[in-house]
Amino acid sequence: MKIIVQKFGGTSVASEEARVAVKNKVQQAIRNGYSPVVVVSAMGRKGAPYATDTLIGALKDVNLSVNVREMDMMMCCGEIISSCVMAATLQKFGINAMALTGGQAGIITDSQFGAARIKNINTSGLIRLLEAGIIPVVCGFQGMTENNYKFTTLGRGGSDTSAAALGAALKADFVEIYTDVEGIMTADPRIVEKANILQQISYAEVCQMAQNGAKVIHPRAVEIAMGSNIPMYVKSTFSDAPGTLITSERIGQGNGGEIAINESCASGVAHLNDLAQFRIDLNPQDITAGRNLFEDLADAGISVGCLNLSEKEAMFAVFSPDVEHTCKVLDATGFKYTLNEGCGKVSVVGSAMRGVPGIMATFVTALASHNIAILQTVDSDTTISAIVKEEYLVEAVKALHEAFKL
Ligand code: ADP
Ligand code: MG
Repeated sequence: MKIIVQKFGGTSVASEEARVAVKNKVQQAIRNGYSPVVVVSAMGRKGAPYATDTLIGALKDVNLSVNVREMDMMMCCGEIISSCVMAATLQKFGINAMALTGGQAGIITDSQFGAARIKNINTSGLIRLLEAGIIPVVCGFQGMTENNYKFTTLGRGGSDTSAAALGAALKADFVEIYTDVEGIMTADPRIVEKANILQQISYAEVCQMAQNGAKVIHPRAVEIAMGSNIPMYVKSTFSDAPGTLITSERIGQGNGGEIAINESCASGVAHLNDLAQFRIDLNPQDITAGRNLFEDLADAGISVGCLNLSEKEAMFAVFSPDVEHTCKVLDATGFKYTLNEGCGKVSVVGSAMRGVPGIMATFVTALASHNIAILQTVDSDTTISAIVKEEYLVEAVKALHEAFKL
């Protein structure tokens, strides 16, 4: 049996027309000799009647501080409705299909509601269905606790994670992520109209792009696929374009040639909104105090990013909803600090940038020529990021996309 996993996002299952397009993709896979396992997200985006946000809103209307257990169970309804509707659609077209909750599909998680981690997947039920020629239509984004059958959710973008984890557990030939764009692009096409589709990109680069805000795929899903070395495709439900292949190789990589700075040594530009930057005055004479500061933040469960540390100063960014909590922790330490709200982060990602001189110069010049002030930079050998004021974020993405000739 040649198993593949086909995941369909919210817009791909939102309308009857879209669901027929999904049916065509499933039928095509069967024709090509594959046994597909279908994974679905909740139908539609924000505002749609059964979309995740609508379900959250409906429960919060009743009780703002509802238990996380009930919130997870409520959110799971979105995918349950979607999987039933999709299975019914496939059945209507003569395809033998069965809707399954995450738990029924064997996805066992820990009990961290809202951000559960998959512990293991019992594939025997799925294999039996596939052997009987039945297409499983699995609810994405959800699992079940091992001993007490509670519904759990895997966090935003979790259906991608479900698909990758099922692909790994089933030793699938590949995993297909179907969405409303034709692949992973050099930037979010909602911002850069001329963004190009990447034919092939490495797991590591996609992970960097996703972690830095490219929401086309969830970073955890890519990590799982990378761990099992399963190829992933990102494709459109609504076209026959070949999409983007994600594997361990970047296209053009390993050909031994020198990569000239202007010939797209970058793979893409990503951006993140809704950040706040903290700058803290440190006393060079008191190193321990600085260390304690980060322990205090960690103990408070605050995740800090973009960390720069020097003798006299520490800089980092947090997501806006964590600002109040962070201020409380800092106030308790007595450090003097400044808070810069309304920030965003723009990042250029590319494994071919590694060791190429002049990359930082291109980056800085691109932003400077648009009069965009850099509040801080952070870089690794494959990513350069800058914190900028949020009002310049879109312009910064466009400027870097152009400067790196993407
Ligand atoms: P789905 O509901 O199918 O999971 P998402 O909304 O999660 O879809 O992801 C698809 C969206 O990701 C696209 O509509 C696009 O606006 C956005 N996106 C952001 N960055 C990129 C990128 N680099 N390439 C492609 N799409 C991107
Ligand atoms: Mg998504």
